[in-house]
Amino acid sequence: MEQAPMLFIPGPTYVPEEIARAQARPMIGHRSREFTALFERILPRLQAIFRTRGRVFFIAASGTGLWEAAVRNLVRRKVLCLINGAFGERWYQVALANGKEAVPVSIEWGRGIRPEQVVAALEDHPDVEAITLVHNETSTGVMNPLREIAGAVRQTFPEVLILVDAVSSLGGAPLETDAWGLDFVLTSSQKCLALPPGLAFCAVSERALEKAKEVPHRGYYFDLLTLARYADRGETPATPAISLLYAADLQFARILEEGLEARWERHRRMAERVQTWARERLGLFAEEGYRSWTLTCVANTRGIDVGALNEFLRARGKVISSGYGPLKGKTFRIAHMGEIQPHHIEELLADIEEWLAAHR
Ligand SMILES: *Cc1c(COP(=O)(O)O)cnc(C)c1O
Repeated sequence: MEQAPMLFIPGPTYVPEEIARAQARPMIGHRSREFTALFERILPRLQAIFRTRGRVFFIAASGTGLWEAAVRNLVRRKVLCLINGAFGERWYQVALANGKEAVPVSIEWGRGIRPEQVVAALEDHPDVEAITLVHNETSTGVMNPLREIAGAVRQTFPEVLILVDAVSSLGGAPLETDAWGLDFVLTSSQKCLALPPGLAFCAVSERALEKAKEVPHRGYYFDLLTLARYADRGETPATPAISLLYAADLQFARILEEGLEARWERHRRMAERVQTWARERLGLFAEEGYRSWTLTCVANTRGIDVGALNEFLRARGKVISSGYGPLKGKTFRIAHMGEIQPHHIEELLADIEEWLAAHR
């Protein structure tokens, strides 16, 4: 079999072999004591990663499924969608597709969302029930100031639920579900948590669950109240992705063994290294003060041929990511998330340096 390249793309990320192998363990029934034991190991670890004492759920889906769950369960009529990149835009589209009255608040790509902008938008639409916000915009390399935004919303519009996409940040940058007063936080398995794709995880506040009781047509598969009822007895409503849960069981233990703060700090240091390098060599797409800890969106100021660079890297067993959608060609992205270590980053930058030196 061909050796797979080391992934410096923003998902799926590199999965250590030990984690991948955990999936091969023998199958168990999902209405068995063994499964409930697995469930009861995973849940407190997930709470620790989300920094919550409240409800957490896992489900066989990618993160997109939980975008749908969020608006479907927690919005009766109207939601405000904050958009400063492709993922914010898509969550807005998901709200519309679920028949919600969604109000888009568009902010220039590459810029961070300011708390004042959110408060002003809520003043214009005081009847919204919730806001949707992407913590880390994977399309632009912007990390929005979630803590400050949530604080401002809690202070000025305390009734409004705060729904957060933390797909490319949870596990790689500070996020405090309870302390910051977040109502719904979702993530996917294949980004900073460094698991294979196929699982999605969320934390849900008590008041969000109360709200769900008033929302009709929550759907079936992603109904939070059904998930909660089954969780109370250590089970899931439908057949869970047991193999992936074996991997999650082991990986969450590893994450907590590294220590969540230490893990955040590792990501911060890798971001600093890549961004210092990129600023000297090319440029950065995201504005200063709002740059992501988990990926860098490099501004392609020298018009380099990113496809050719990636071919060169591939021969060295590595792969980076082109710019997202309209940013293709104008930017490229280096993810430093999950199980990527500082030495991997050094090796990658040395290879890119070598290519750049030969292509002046
Ligand atoms: C990757 C990504 C998604 C989509 O997640 P899937 O797991 O592919 O459904 C959503 N939001 C952000 C910020 C992402 O980076």
